[in-house]
Amino acid sequence: MTDKPRLVQVRENVLKHNDVLARELRQKFHDAGVFVVSLVSSPGSGKTAFLEKTLSALHGKYRVAALVGDLATDNDAERLARSNAPVKQIVTGTVCHLEAAMVENALDDWNLPELDFLFIENVGNLVCPSSYDLGEDLRLVLMSTTEGEDKPLKYPTIFNTADVSVITKIDIADAVEFDLAKAKNSIQSVRPGMRIFELSAKSGAGMDEWLEFLQSKSAKTVLASG
Ligand code: MG
Ligand code: ZN
Repeated sequence: MTDKPRLVQVRENVLKHNDVLARELRQKFHDAGVFVVSLVSSPGSGKTAFLEKTLSALHGKYRVAALVGDLATDNDAERLARSNAPVKQIVTGTVCHLEAAMVENALDDWNLPELDFLFIENVGNLVCPSSYDLGEDLRLVLMSTTEGEDKPLKYPTIFNTADVSVITKIDIADAVEFDLAKAKNSIQSVRPGMRIFELSAKSGAGMDEWLEFLQSKSAKTVLASG
């Protein structure tokens, strides 16, 4: 009988604990009728700009809020607050990913049934966020046209834990000679059939398609005006 090395054992326990908490969170979200979307990507892929546009578009029609994880600053939370949606920063310190416990703590004084959508922006990192379920309903993995088209091939695990992928900054795709077809092939080879949105938060291109998709996920029916 060989025991597992102690550090492996500790890590497995941490992950198990996270999964239990995440399952509880998911149940809580469902009971409250809030649809939860998390965002993962490398640093600088445009998560915050994309989220700011998404929050602004939904705000007023839906009750939206966001949690944003960052290692040190609350700059992103300040930017997102411009959408007028409630935003809370989770400063993770030395931890390079969000965990279910951090999400649970951050939600402490929010009343979930008062929300239709909750967005969780993870720390910019394509590696360990893949190991941590946050109880979300939908996980987006974003990559921008300023990154290599083979990013999905280098980080297949995060693409495999995500539900949908988003290619951002398509307004500058030509200028940076980004090969969109190649990028989409990379995604499809890791995750056949994965839904891919191509958009630009800056120009607004592709945002409508994304917003329609998102609104189709909400339990809330928005009545046509008039
Ligand atoms: Mg950000
Ligand atoms: Zn990490």
